[in-house]
Amino acid sequence: MFTRPHRIDASSLHRVRLGTSRIVLAMSLIAGTATMSAQSSAALGDTPVAASAHHIDTGTPNSNDAPLGAVSSSVTTTPLTTTDNSPATTGDLLVLDTPEDQEIEGLDVRTDLGLLPSDLAPHIGDDTPEGIGFTEAPAAPGTYKSAERVISRLKAPRAKNRLRTLVIRAHWNGNRKDKTSTKRLRKLTSNADKVLRSATRGRYGINATYTPWIKISRTSCNDVRLIGQRATRAAAARNRAHNADRFNRVVIYFPHSSSCASWAGRGEMPGKYVWLNGAKQATVLAHELGHNFGLGHANVVQCNKSRTLTRRGHGCKSHEYGDLGDLMGAGPYSGLTQAAMQHQASWLTKGRMRNAQKRKTTVKLRPRSSNKGIRAVRVRGKGATYWVEYRTRSGLDKVLSKDLTGVTVSLAPPRRGHASNALDMQPQNNNSAIALPLGASWTSPEGIRFQVKKQTKKRATVVVQRRAKKARKPAAPKQVTVQPGDLSAFVTVAKGNDRGAPIQRWRVRAVPVAGGHTISGTVTATAALSRTVMVQQLTNGTAYRVQVRARNEKGWSSWSAPISVTPAPVTPVVTVSSPVTGQSYSQTIPLRLSASTRDTTPAVITSLYAYLDLPWSSSPVYVGRQGFTKKLDLSYDLDTGILPDGTYPMRFIAQDSQGRIGAVTRNVTIVGKSPRITQATAAISGNTLTVNYTMTPQLNQVQGVLIGVRNTANGSVVASSPWLYPTAGVEAQWTQSATSWAPGTYTVEVIALDRNYWPREQIPLEGQPSWGYHRVTRPVTK
Ligand SMILES: [Zn+2]
Repeated sequence: MFTRPHRIDASSLHRVRLGTSRIVLAMSLIAGTATMSAQSSAALGDTPVAASAHHIDTGTPNSNDAPLGAVSSSVTTTPLTTTDNSPATTGDLLVLDTPEDQEIEGLDVRTDLGLLPSDLAPHIGDDTPEGIGFTEAPAAPGTYKSAERVISRLKAPRAKNRLRTLVIRAHWNGNRKDKTSTKRLRKLTSNADKVLRSATRGRYGINATYTPWIKISRTSCNDVRLIGQRATRAAAARNRAHNADRFNRVVIYFPHSSSCASWAGRGEMPGKYVWLNGAKQATVLAHELGHNFGLGHANVVQCNKSRTLTRRGHGCKSHEYGDLGDLMGAGPYSGLTQAAMQHQASWLTKGRMRNAQKRKTTVKLRPRSSNKGIRAVRVRGKGATYWVEYRTRSGLDKVLSKDLTGVTVSLAPPRRGHASNALDMQPQNNNSAIALPLGASWTSPEGIRFQVKKQTKKRATVVVQRRAKKARKPAAPKQVTVQPGDLSAFVTVAKGNDRGAPIQRWRVRAVPVAGGHTISGTVTATAALSRTVMVQQLTNGTAYRVQVRARNEKGWSSWSAPISVTPAPVTPVVTVSSPVTGQSYSQTIPLRLSASTRDTTPAVITSLYAYLDLPWSSSPVYVGRQGFTKKLDLSYDLDTGILPDGTYPMRFIAQDSQGRIGAVTRNVTIVGKSPRITQATAAISGNTLTVNYTMTPQLNQVQGVLIGVRNTANGSVVASSPWLYPTAGVEAQWTQSATSWAPGTYTVEVIALDRNYWPREQIPLEGQPSWGYHRVTRPVTK
């Protein structure tokens, strides 16, 4: 019988060491609170230890998410304990930060409610780069929900053998029945059937029969044998067709009992019984059915000092169900199962595996979800047998996160029912990333070298070489490129020749050419062929020589050839989508703009303002925001108030944390506010000029109307009206004697003025910008 506890006690756990300063527990919390406690190595001595825990919201935004605050405790008396009371949403992380170099010996996580036991996936690694001034992005965890979604859409091979499976819902006093319906259980078994058909490549499936709820006498949820006896007896007594003897498998579901919070499911190994403690995940049921077939857990081996595997395994630990990408491992990403176990359970045909016996074997491996071609290579070494396979996000393995894909090397279990151990080829990363990356090579303690030559969606080309040279320190990185940034430089380094052991990290240094403070830091290698890192805290205008060296488990390479770089400042970028050039606005001007800093600068935007300049005032109309972000938006509908019609200059100005300015200017035209002359006629009859006109006031208050007459030939003003106050919208008339005018052509100007017209002098005006005027001209001849 195996359990999948989420409680990890000191005896089974992981010594986390090597300056590991952060332990990330990826938990898919549904609701409720979690309690986490950690025991430090200082428990053996007398040094108090301090740690802090944070609840990190990575799933649905949750306004209640908040840091837990620091917790501290003297571990000589009690372990560190912290309680996360903030409601969690799926995918949230609970993070425990301990001081640098603090060795954690035991870690114990409990939840009062909602945490699905096998959701716990310990991710252990120094995901915080050691150097200052280096930035790297974290990865988000997956959830059971997304796994179920993949499974429900999965196309699995038809089952040759459908296991007759009796599903009994049992409850008792003290653990009353929940709302789980037959329909819900049907979904569970239908999805688990798909998982099983995929994992066995159509050898097995499930044909389920469901009992109604069955009440049994009070029992402890931990006494699963007794629950099994009572439930099967009661089910058979109620309905002879539900006699467990007639079935290949019996699944007993009972409502989640918090006194058994340490496990979600149990399965006989080998056998036919499965117990589900309120768990309704297809992968949990399929995992327990895997135990019924005699499968052990899919473990991961991790060793000290960033080693992949030491001779005789000294310093190495096997992490129970630590292969997070395996059905027989833990966590929501449980895809197919390791080839060694497939072979053990006779789920892998001879034609789909290959033995690498020659001095050198090149194999084109198909993804393990593929239904044709070579699925696995078996390599028998001295005292150990290795299995190599290829995981891609396809078939059931679509549930895998990207981290969990790639070429894996596992140690075969010594006997049936024993665990298979995947080797962690990226010990520098959290233990979900264990694949041997593309381009990387690994040399086993007995001198077998495995190298990933090529990797596509359809296949991976792996070379297995016996009697290979011992692994050595890597060659100095040859492919290094450096781009200048603002107060920074971008360094890209490709993996190059690892000489028999995967590259785990790089050291980057930037040395000022003229002398001074060297900036350096460490970059963790991922499965990718290269990484780019932003080296910060450099000085603009100063030339630096950048060098990189690589490390594998044998040690550091020499430094790469130096590359010169001189950082230079960059200014913020202002993007204005409104107001639009050439468009006119009336009562409001919609302001839609944003300011951002470029990727090449560590600076952030601190303010973004929009100014509308008034020609008659040194105080512009303005609106703005402050912030401390890479991108700051400003969205505001600026009321034009009593501003008269006309064209105004607008300035949009952003400032960054380095005090640098980015600006955009744009002219904005306001219309529809000031009064207009909507109709005008002018004519000289005899010696009298008669002007008929209509003034429409629009939105702003009206100052009045002025009429002037110019000699068209020389521009001189021959007549002008006093202020006229026509009734709005009603045709008005102005007459003027033309007796003294010389015969010729004249221009009559009829001007409506806003109460706030500008400029206030020189009327009538011509050829200069003005605000709050509307003028029409009419030619007349005397
Ligand atoms: Zn198990």
